[in-house]
Amino acid sequence: IGSRSTQIVSLTHPNSARAFSVDTTPITATLFPGDGIGPEIADSVKQVFRAADVPIEWEEHYVGTEVDPRTQSFLTWESLESVRRNRVGLKGPMATPIGKGHRSLNLTLRKELNLYANVRPCYSLPGYKTRYDNVDLITIRENTEGEYSGLEHQVVRGVVESLKIITRHASLRVAEYAFHYAKAHGRERVSAIHKANIMQKTDGLFLKCCREVAGKYPEIKYEEVVIDNCCMMLVKNPALFDVLVMPNLYGDIISDLCAGLIGGLGLTPSCNIGEGGIALAEAVHGSAPDIAGKNLANPTALMLSAITMLRHLELHGKADRIQNAILNTIAEGKYRTADLGGTSTTTDFTEAIIDHL
Ligand code: NAD
Repeated sequence: IGSRSTQIVSLTHPNSARAFSVDTTPITATLFPGDGIGPEIADSVKQVFRAADVPIEWEEHYVGTEVDPRTQSFLTWESLESVRRNRVGLKGPMATPIGKGHRSLNLTLRKELNLYANVRPCYSLPGYKTRYDNVDLITIRENTEGEYSGLEHQVVRGVVESLKIITRHASLRVAEYAFHYAKAHGRERVSAIHKANIMQKTDGLFLKCCREVAGKYPEIKYEEVVIDNCCMMLVKNPALFDVLVMPNLYGDIISDLCAGLIGGLGLTPSCNIGEGGIALAEAVHGSAPDIAGKNLANPTALMLSAITMLRHLELHGKADRIQNAILNTIAEGKYRTADLGGTSTTTDFTEAIIDHL
């Protein structure tokens, strides 16, 4: 992978407290295996980490069976405390029933832990052919507000209202993160993605904040692109973009589009960055109920996410070793899961990665 790509999973915010620097002392990290394919792919990560002697001890937490009044969701207070204490964690996908039920587990985590920036690297994997071989994008998604503020209600029968919240505070914070990230990783350009022509107040404020921060980084090129045009440009020529920063909903959608450019959701990692240096890594994909329990899931996305966590902990030696084993296994082509056109089970693919360590 390109020289920039080898760096893109290094997610340490320049302002984070760097409390971890020793390569061998065991570090406790929170693990949410999650729902659907989550436990299967979390098992793969644990096996590979064990085989590579990664000095991590997992503190596992499961989604509760009753709503915890302190979190107003099935996520237990103890599990949130675990992330607050450990400051690093890995999260499997968590299912959210459509249109009813409890407060979304993902929303609860992001809001309660103030995970304000979701960093989603997406790059072409060597040896795995798609239409493009030069994708190298970082989507930075505002993670705490926008349409995902959870403020929805019925106005009168037949009319519902959903509020999109954009604040100066959260917009400046995520823009600052995006520019810091670009600078720290030798990136040239930050594109703010918006629909301010229609959402004049909300996206207008988001853009205003991005412009304000851009002014502090004259060495980084800054541009503004309307989201619909951005989708067309990404599909036509992904090399037009570098780092993209955007409000919550747009980031959710654009990152799936980007995943499609490189081979699908089985390949794309992410890391949620919170105030005070918290890093909670998770795959971009969901719980994939259609293949859950069948030993068919591709664990790559969660493994690459776990690697972002290792890099956040500055365990770069271990991160490089595992990342190379994953990429070499995929490039070799003998063992691939069905989403990549192969016939391997999750177990076979995981064992192949271990053999490549
Ligand atoms: P999804 O990402 O679970 O699945 C979309 C498609 O991609 C499916 O065909 C699935 O089989 C495939 N896929 C996803 N991950 C894969 C993997 N690792 N290997 C192979 N194939 C994979 O999206 P969905 O079906 O829209 O959502 C299912 C559930 O997940 C919903 O309840 C949703 O709310 C939840 N979800 C959670 C998260 C999260 O926890 N961060 C993110 C997205 C969706």
